[in-house]
Amino acid sequence: MTRVLVIEDDPQIRRFLRLALDGEGCTVQEASRLDVGVAASRLGPDLVLLDLGLPDGDGLAFIAPFRKTSRAPVIVLSARGQETDKVAALDAGADDYLVKPFGMAELLARVRAQLRRRASEGAAEATAFRFGEVTVDLAKREVRRAGTQLHLSPIEFRLLEYLLAHAGRVLTHRQILREVWGPGHAESGPTLRVYVGKLRHKLEADPAQPRHLLTEIGVGYRMEI
Ligand code: CA
Repeated sequence: MTRVLVIEDDPQIRRFLRLALDGEGCTVQEASRLDVGVAASRLGPDLVLLDLGLPDGDGLAFIAPFRKTSRAPVIVLSARGQETDKVAALDAGADDYLVKPFGMAELLARVRAQLRRRASEGAAEATAFRFGEVTVDLAKREVRRAGTQLHLSPIEFRLLEYLLAHAGRVLTHRQILREVWGPGHAESGPTLRVYVGKLRHKLEADPAQPRHLLTEIGVGYRMEI
């Protein structure tokens, strides 16, 4: 049974979430306040759906302390659709972000994607990946497209490795720059765009319509495999 913790003060949205998740065979635990949510999170949920506007505080405050004890995915649900709000939630350690109002199909697709990602992380660390015509063997540092070996620069390889390790998760520009280029490079957005472009040309069937290395406008990138 997948245990989902829903931290949301709107009773109608909570009911909607419970109905949707019940249908998926999840056990749903509900919290209508931040402090109740924090207490409930100690029971070790498999996934958290987190509203930001809560009566006793900002849902953002939940994320960082929770991340210290759990790697369970956190999907933020918020009426705030501003890119800066998404970036703040993702930088704090959230895994995905849904802007209200959202449909049930979209919610469930995101929940399933996060649970799949978490399950594959729990298995031995993957070193081989396949998406589209591309195969990647991280251990051998080998990338092939339709069987032909590709030449990636060291930085392109590191970027691809980081994206694959977090496939399915929205990564902010800042997170990617910090992890791939190093702590001093958190603001070099244009550099990142150039390297994403290079990777797309090597890996995507149509670099102008990428199907794997996806842009999250104003926020960052997401690798879909
Ligand atoms: Ca709310």
